[in-house]
Amino acid sequence: MRGVRGAYPRRRGGVGGQAQTARCYRAGNHMGLPRMRGDAVVTDPLTAQLAQLIRAGDQLRPRSRQKKIGPSSVGAPCDRRLAYQWIGHPHANSSDPLAAIIGTGFHQWAADAFARLNGVLGRERYLIEEQVTIRPGLSGTLDLYDQDARRLIDWKCVGANTIKTTKRDGPRPQYVIQSHLYGMGLEAAGHTPSEVALAFVPRGGFLSGLHVWTAPYDRAVAEQALTRLDDLALKLTALDVETHPQRWVDIPISPGHECVFCPWYTPNRTDLSVGCPGDVLADATSRVQTKLGGEAIA
Ligand code: SF4
Repeated sequence: MRGVRGAYPRRRGGVGGQAQTARCYRAGNHMGLPRMRGDAVVTDPLTAQLAQLIRAGDQLRPRSRQKKIGPSSVGAPCDRRLAYQWIGHPHANSSDPLAAIIGTGFHQWAADAFARLNGVLGRERYLIEEQVTIRPGLSGTLDLYDQDARRLIDWKCVGANTIKTTKRDGPRPQYVIQSHLYGMGLEAAGHTPSEVALAFVPRGGFLSGLHVWTAPYDRAVAEQALTRLDDLALKLTALDVETHPQRWVDIPISPGHECVFCPWYTPNRTDLSVGCPGDVLADATSRVQTKLGGEAIA
């Protein structure tokens, strides 16, 4: 959520009866650090400081520094987003980390809980946080694999709206592809998964709101996603966008509401070597390209 200056009433009548205007702190920039998308205007210094410390602590997590493409990003619908990630392009923004922090907390709790269940059973029915290699250079850590049911389970801590749309339209293809990629990784490790499941945990709700989607494990879904990734890699090599940044425009986009979560979303800028404004630029870039004669490499 974007902070809005002036959205909070000014406080007057400070110490000693003198009129005093409360200083506004925008969590994230009063300590000389860059301001980030999602920063809220707060009027209390302690609130601002704690918010900043939460951000700073979050940025020290290994996952926050992870740039390599993993199973969770292979199925991203937007080629350009995947391309930025593929070449390790610096992030153009930093969104509010709280949802991810809460999700990490749930994942840790679930790992501990299923380890206790294994302890009660006296055997390792559940593989927990298992590292799998899908193919050389592409590996990841799956959440849970029930060896008895041969079912892979991936936790998704989401908001109420995502649960609603998932019930209505099914899960995002990116999540589905991720689960089948993990299935492929399990196969490579000698397992025989038969089903993939996405367990949508309502971040701000109750257990009664848990929604689970399942599908038979389908290796073809994973293979198709990997083919797309390889095609994009070939295209990136041909374009050499690091030497020719004007060619970023030749990498197609799939803009949508997901853009606001994209680390390269720069809504008011048109320099694609910095970030992408989403669909706003789609027309403008094609016009510029036409004017310049284009430089498309198919
Ligand atoms: S801002 Fe949107 S269109 Fe642009 S790269 Fe990110 S996801 Fe793709």
